Amino acid sequence: MRTMKIREIINTQKRKAVIAMVSGMAVFLVSLIISPDYTVMSYVALAGFAVAMGAITFLELGLSCPQCRGRIGCAVNYPGRPLSVSSKIRFCPFCGVSLDSRLKL
Ligand SMILES: [Zn+2]
Repeated sequence: MRTMKIREIINTQKRKAVIAMVSGMAVFLVSLIISPDYTVMSYVALAGFAVAMGAITFLELGLSCPQCRGRIGCAVNYPGRPLSVSSKIRFCPFCGVSLDSRLKL
């Protein structure tokens, strides 16, 4: 049976969401810039915007503690680095489990 640190599980979710957010914003901006010449790109811009907003919503409401399923997004997003949880956050604010403890998958 494989085990992973809770911090690694949250970091993986956060990293995927941040990459989706940045990619969506990049698609949105590039499509918006070239949309006057290619009108179909305005739809692509909307899709990129939707991806970015979905990723932001996931970062705020979807990130959860794998132990208790508490919404931990607000607690781990702002004080940390963009792609990982800050090492200063050591415990889940809801159940108190250490983020460096291992969880069986
Ligand atoms: Zn928890």
